[in-house]
Amino acid sequence: MSGPVSSTDAPPAVADASHPSAPCVEVTDSRDEQVGHIRVRRALPRKGRRTVGAWCFADHMGPADVTENSGLDVGPHPHIGLQTVTWLTDGEVLHRDSLGSEQVIKPGQLNLMTSGGAVSHAEEATGHYRGTLEGIQLWVALPEATRHGGAAFEHHAELPQVELSGAVATVLVGDFADLTSPARHDTPLVGVDLDLHSPTTVPLLREWEYAVVVLDGEVGIDGKQLAPGKLAYLGQGRDHLTLDVRQRTRAVLLGGEPFEDPIVMWWNFVARDRAEIDAAYASWARRDDRFGRVRSSLPLIPAKAPFWQEGPSR
Ligand code: MN
Repeated sequence: MSGPVSSTDAPPAVADASHPSAPCVEVTDSRDEQVGHIRVRRALPRKGRRTVGAWCFADHMGPADVTENSGLDVGPHPHIGLQTVTWLTDGEVLHRDSLGSEQVIKPGQLNLMTSGGAVSHAEEATGHYRGTLEGIQLWVALPEATRHGGAAFEHHAELPQVELSGAVATVLVGDFADLTSPARHDTPLVGVDLDLHSPTTVPLLREWEYAVVVLDGEVGIDGKQLAPGKLAYLGQGRDHLTLDVRQRTRAVLLGGEPFEDPIVMWWNFVARDRAEIDAAYASWARRDDRFGRVRSSLPLIPAKAPFWQEGPSR
């Protein structure tokens, strides 16, 4: 997905919120956005809460009806400084990128693209799938060691799963309950899909911070109810989390070591300062070689000028 981040969500000039060291339950509303042809609920970033570990973006997309020829329909667009992590609970999407990757993703599989210093990609209808599309696209901010490095793409057709007392957990990224996902991660991080049917307790690490996003159903955390369109930030200092579930519920648990680098996010870029974003914007706007080419029939997404270039009023 394109995931254009605007100043509404992530004012680049504002310092990151502190990372509470104590457990908490901060519930925030997602913001409705349109990405390509699909309605999404953007849970991250929020004002005052831009990262959970290195997770810096979460779009719950759909459910939406798609056809063979019309799906996400996000044309070629660039990324810097991040990984895109795509996980579907229903439907199919075709990923194409400037590395030459061409990969259909289905429920239960993971697409993971690492931008390094520059990559571009498109997300398209598959040419054969017709039905409901639903899932989540996440971004991970890359650390200094890899954010200027090469781009890469991984597809994981199978991920480790564990049956807990009230849920089936699928490990998207990182380690969870003695299982390890094969997906690349460059900072200490975890992402877990939870298919819940009754109250469940999951293991956490005290030193990490966590959040939960509900895709379907409803879950109670420390007496607060969480439904689709909400994100619960849970702070640090928990060695376990109890999810109170009374109906079939689908949720994603995100966590990691607090990401201390101050990041600047604009449009599809994650950087450390405005000059880096200005340079990426200029490259995409003039279509130089930096972001390569994507073999896609969809039109390129035009560059979105950083708001600080738009005049002195702001
Ligand atoms: Mn994208």
